[in-house]
Amino acid sequence: MSVETSTHDDGKPAAGTRRGELIRLEGVTKRFGDNTVLDGLDLSVDAGRHVTLIGPSGSGKTTILRMLMTLTKPDEGTITVDGEHLFPAPEKRVREVRKKIGMVFQQFNLFPNMSVLRNITEAPVRVLGMPKDEAEARARELLDLVGLADKCDARPTRLSGGQQQRVAIARALAMRPRVLLLDEVTSALDPELVAGVLDLLRDIARSTDITMLCVTHEMGFARDISDQVLMFDSGRVIEAAPPEKIFSDPERERTREFLSAVL
Ligand code: ADP
Repeated sequence: MSVETSTHDDGKPAAGTRRGELIRLEGVTKRFGDNTVLDGLDLSVDAGRHVTLIGPSGSGKTTILRMLMTLTKPDEGTITVDGEHLFPAPEKRVREVRKKIGMVFQQFNLFPNMSVLRNITEAPVRVLGMPKDEAEARARELLDLVGLADKCDARPTRLSGGQQQRVAIARALAMRPRVLLLDEVTSALDPELVAGVLDLLRDIARSTDITMLCVTHEMGFARDISDQVLMFDSGRVIEAAPPEKIFSDPERERTREFLSAVL
């Protein structure tokens, strides 16, 4: 596809980004000491697409999500979101661009001493400056969406893992992000709670235009929600294909081996 210049909200041209492209990583390298986790990675995700990252543990998938969430920085390369640099960029711009991205973690990461409702309203009020009433009304709508309308006043620790993860999903959506990052969101759940959370995410994928970037070992889920699946190995994308291709007829032997081990 051709590289064009697009415009965004403030009318400034976004150099080198394609129309419709929401996330772009170019030449991204990340090292932890001597361990080169990502080595010159290029990745592009269009707005509204659902992209799943699969591959063996330690191949760098979570590191990509953490870089997009600005929880860790690349050593080299550029990251652009919605036509604006997330890296490298001045701290003030990073805070603005970051507002477009929400993340749901494996371990929920809820604030344990706040009610469920406050967990969801905290960031919209503090970060977006949303009036408290509006944030609460929105939080109640989201709790309804995730099936927890009756848990507004509960502490997260009183909820099951599946319920806590639903709150975490509602909390991420409360910021109205353009991008939702999902990092092995069912790995910490008891097996009987996994399907409910995945069904909720399937609904969100179907009924919103949110862009999703998802790391998962749930291949059935990946098959259902993805427009594209990226197979990682040693910090590189070794195969990228739609789910119907990669799960039934992968090009690479390494992909075949990985899938036969996990399926
Ligand atoms: P994946 O998500 O594919 O399992 P990760 O991105 O979590 O892989 O990790 C890739 C590699 O980076 C692993 O070797 C991991 O040990 C290493 N790594 C990740 N985070 C850190 C860290 N904070 N400090 C040191 N090494 C790390």
